[in-house]
Amino acid sequence: MSLLAEVWEAVRAIGQGMAAVNRRVGESAVTEFYPYQKPEIPPVSVQFLALIQNEDGSDRCVSCLACERACPSQVITIERKRNPAGKGFVLERFDLDFVNCMHCANCVEVCPVSAIVTVGDFEHAVYDVNMLKADKAFLDEIGRRAQVWYSPKFGVEIRKPDGSIEKAPPEMQPGGLAELLAGEEGA
Ligand code: SF4
Ligand code: SF4
Repeated sequence: MSLLAEVWEAVRAIGQGMAAVNRRVGESAVTEFYPYQKPEIPPVSVQFLALIQNEDGSDRCVSCLACERACPSQVITIERKRNPAGKGFVLERFDLDFVNCMHCANCVEVCPVSAIVTVGDFEHAVYDVNMLKADKAFLDEIGRRAQVWYSPKFGVEIRKPDGSIEKAPPEMQPGGLAELLAGEEGA
């Protein structure tokens, strides 16, 4: 390409860029002032994982090991012991190595009681990578402060101000809004 052609190509590219910018002048900003303005995360998104406890503070997790076995990255480590007071097991250890977790949510999909769930709580950047090796206390804490979470078995659930847990309304469920609108149109 000759020098003249290169100069023309550069001028043309700059002109195209400026035209694209001009077309946006006057439109409202789409950028967000994070971290001062928090983005609204949809309830069904795999930002982070948490363990949910029942309203009485007991573990939902029944130590079935399904999530540990389903995890393709093998980053879940569970230890359990037989329940001395009756049937089932008592959860003794639940570690999750977020360094190597690929957020596939297999663990959430296989959980029979929706104990491990996805939450929109995404602000867990740390300087020390070892801090991303979560134990049960950490996962419980993420679960305790979650206001909304998702699992395929129970759908989207919400924590009410009084601490009780209930299923979220249809418009918050996956596909719920579309189904709701389709139902209104059909009525
Ligand atoms: S999201 Fe996937 S990789 Fe991460 S712990 Fe669950 S199953 Fe394992
Ligand atoms: S699949 Fe659910 S109930 Fe079973 S060990 Fe994992 S978190 Fe607990």
